[in-house]
Amino acid sequence: MSKKRNMISYIIIAAAIIFVLNYFVLPLVFETGEKQVSYDVFLSELKNDNIEEVEVVNDTIYYTLEDKETQNQGTILLPGFGSKQKDVYSTGVLDYSELHKELVSAGVKFTKVKPQEMSPLVSMLISYIIPIAIFVIFWKFLSKQMAKGGFGGNAMSFGKANAKVYVKAQTGKTFADVAGQEEAKEALKEIVDFLHNPKKYAAIGATLPKGALLVGPPGTGKTLLAQAVAGEANVPFFSISGSEFVEMFVGMGAAKVRDLFKQANEKAPCIVFIDEIDTVGKKRDNGGISGGNDEREQTLNQLLAEMDGFDGKKGVVILAATNRPDSLDKALLRPGRFDRRIPVELPDLRGREAVLRVHAKKVNISDDVNFKAIANATSGASGAELANIINEAALRAVRFGRVEVEQSDLEESVEVILAGYQRKGIVISQKEKEIIAYHEVGHALVAALQKNSAPVHKITIIPRTSGALGYTMQVDEDEKFLMTKEEAISKITTFTAGRAAEQIMFNSVTTGASNDIEQATKIARAMVTRYGMSSEFGMVAFETVNNIYLGEDTTLACSNETAALIDKEVISIISTAYSNAEKILKDNIQKLNSIARYLIERETITGDEFMTLLNL
Ligand code: ADP
Ligand code: ZN
Repeated sequence: MSKKRNMISYIIIAAAIIFVLNYFVLPLVFETGEKQVSYDVFLSELKNDNIEEVEVVNDTIYYTLEDKETQNQGTILLPGFGSKQKDVYSTGVLDYSELHKELVSAGVKFTKVKPQEMSPLVSMLISYIIPIAIFVIFWKFLSKQMAKGGFGGNAMSFGKANAKVYVKAQTGKTFADVAGQEEAKEALKEIVDFLHNPKKYAAIGATLPKGALLVGPPGTGKTLLAQAVAGEANVPFFSISGSEFVEMFVGMGAAKVRDLFKQANEKAPCIVFIDEIDTVGKKRDNGGISGGNDEREQTLNQLLAEMDGFDGKKGVVILAATNRPDSLDKALLRPGRFDRRIPVELPDLRGREAVLRVHAKKVNISDDVNFKAIANATSGASGAELANIINEAALRAVRFGRVEVEQSDLEESVEVILAGYQRKGIVISQKEKEIIAYHEVGHALVAALQKNSAPVHKITIIPRTSGALGYTMQVDEDEKFLMTKEEAISKITTFTAGRAAEQIMFNSVTTGASNDIEQATKIARAMVTRYGMSSEFGMVAFETVNNIYLGEDTTLACSNETAALIDKEVISIISTAYSNAEKILKDNIQKLNSIARYLIERETITGDEFMTLLNL
């Protein structure tokens, strides 16, 4: 929703609330037990001598009955506050002289009250204009406070972070907290030195980059690195997320940027960290066809203006993080802005081990834990995921009443991170259990009986919260950075083997293979369109990857005819792989049977057990 519409809807809501208060709630609060009755009821009460007192205000008669038990007979006609504590009757035409006579003869106390009626204007002023004005003033005040950073946060959600000042004691991070990422640390060391002593650089006339862009997938420690730079340099750390800029009311994003830089300038030397800068810094639309992005553009322009405006020698360094560098507006990357780019990649084997060790320091961990084995089993995991694995393991240790984290805790928590928790409650029929077991053993057997595939680490048919009903874990002995064509084909063959086993054993197929099919297709497609691994096409890139951190994000560029041929080639690769898997399983049907039986009984077998069974 646009911010303008937001404001209008606030006013409408406020008006509605005031309306309800005025017409429904307040009358209830000031309820006096008055009731509207018709004239003849009044007259008959009068005739029966029940009326004690009468008051006439304008054309409304308020009357009180003598018998209090039957009191609720009058009414209130005027909407609004503080109605008379009298019963009421009203009519447009009252013959006062008639009424007067009757009242006198009935001996009723009678007063005619001069109305102190408010003019409609005043009444409207009180019931609408003043409350709305108060509301608007309050709202403006809030916005202003937020722009100043007084409250911190978006309107209506207090406490969300504004550019916060972190003094050293609060960051407390140093490069020692960041495992691996040596290149990134190296690149940031100069900035640390600059922040330590800006004058040294100024004396010689050198200007350091005002901004550096930390580029890498989520959870790789970009925020942590920025905090560590502030910690190492012993300077304040201001942080804000790009999405916070854009969630603002109209004009607020730009105001916030201005404010952030004002604060930063006052506190220089310091670090300003902008997370998810791509949310503000996205490429601007050509011609503004999509529209509605004025707010983001204003914010971006303000950011650019501030970056150009501030004195680079003063010691304000802006670090920004993103995982979509290619979507950034070019203007952001120009010299004098974010002209340094520091890659922060997913950790390799050694990096993963280092991250595990750093986080293991925070928990009680057994001395004989093999970090390398865990690092080996977590290829592709980010620093954040590894930190999570250590924490999950510690939680598990507590659940088992241990005081130390053991290898088994780590192994189980790897699986929790990769596949989710075990689903203990789910009941799977014997028939389905058999299908799942044969499917998984199919994968494992074909993996083990082919060259070029990673050793089987574990097979399990215990369902997981991720939805997996079973899985086969393969773990490479060493970290692999390249994939040969043979390995790619082996992988596809292994993926098809689950379905092949189902077909051979039960002569029918299930939905259980859907993820395998997806994975196999992905590899086969990439072989043809990106890796030049198809003899049909050779080294031609039909597909380009738009963002190396978001693997799915690719663009296919080829003629329709070629696209059809690519599909054909992909189909052929997969069907050949399937035939091979089928052949391997048929040739080893006894093994398939015996290992599957064993798995059904045990539900989980380790890689070693599997190899023993295979070599029996
Ligand atoms: P990003 O900003 O890249 O998304 P974060 O810096 O927020 O990632 O990382 C999240 C958490 O993951 C960190 O607080 C830290 O606990 C852990 N982490 C990530 N990378 C590392 C690393 N290289 N060394 C130690 N811990 C890490
Ligand atoms: Zn499968």
